[in-house]
Amino acid sequence: MARIGFVGLGNMGGPMARNLARAGHEVRVFDLAPAAIAAATGCIPAASAADAATGAAFVITMLPAGKHVRDAWLGTGGMAAAAAGAVLIDCSTIDVGTAREVAEGRRMLDAPVSGGTMGAENASLTFMVGGPEEAFAAAQPILAAMGKTIVHCGAAGAGQAAKACNNMLLAISMIGTAEAFVLAEKLGLSHQALFDVASKSSGQCWALTTYCPVPGPVPTSPANRDYVPGFAASLMEKDLGLAQQAATATGAETPLGAHALALYRRFVEEGGGGTDFSGIVRMLRG
Ligand code: NAD
Repeated sequence: MARIGFVGLGNMGGPMARNLARAGHEVRVFDLAPAAIAAATGCIPAASAADAATGAAFVITMLPAGKHVRDAWLGTGGMAAAAAGAVLIDCSTIDVGTAREVAEGRRMLDAPVSGGTMGAENASLTFMVGGPEEAFAAAQPILAAMGKTIVHCGAAGAGQAAKACNNMLLAISMIGTAEAFVLAEKLGLSHQALFDVASKSSGQCWALTTYCPVPGPVPTSPANRDYVPGFAASLMEKDLGLAQQAATATGAETPLGAHALALYRRFVEEGGGGTDFSGIVRMLRG
């Protein structure tokens, strides 16, 4: 069993750290919010991020955005220095550029996740990982205690690249699915009829069959609980922003990605940010 430092115990990091402790690892945890440290059952409280990292074989961060990740690793807290020799794993969703900058010259993996808070609770997350093969191999059993699917995507930044591409695709397919239901409503076609046809036809996609944006056809989808997240629209807006940042930096043409960002930005501005991202169907109804 390994000694692990874990920094950032929010909606995702809290349950991920608890799963590592449950798997028998010694997990030393830190968060700026004392209540988050207190809630980390089975973990050992640390006095600072550097304290959590000192002497650990693996150090994990799960923080909101790129600036927090850069500050935590490279800032005055000195966490990267304290973690000398360890495998460093950043699980936050951040921009590719910052992921590469922070990893430069370090034994570090970018390992963003999908699967949401349920996946974090149930240790069924998908990890998309960028970084050196040797660090990936060493980290595999640690990631396996928090997730089910672990994919090595390539060199530093490749995990964040995969996350940005996947979530841009998800947003576009969710908007497309929602538009199809809005048109069906206008045409007098029932939700169930469209679902029964499209889920077995060429319109089939995850946004329809697993996460249907209207109540009824998929009982577990957030549409059946008044769009309580799930995956909040504000997080989707953030991820679409990261995808557009990457598109601009690389000169990739992503007109639908840009339009998806504009629509989610409007949805968030109109007060939908705290609701599930599938709730954009309500805005599309006008
Ligand atoms: P959160 O806001 O619930 O948690 C972030 C935690 O980091 C907070 O507890 C905060 O106090 C702590 N923190 C911030 N700066 C810190 C610092 N310098 N030192 C120590 N602690 C610090 O966020 P979350 O929902 O857990 O998301 C974390 C990351 O995972 C984000 O990048 C998000 O985009 C990504 N993500 C979230 C979900 C989801 O469904 N919530 C799904 C996939 C990926």
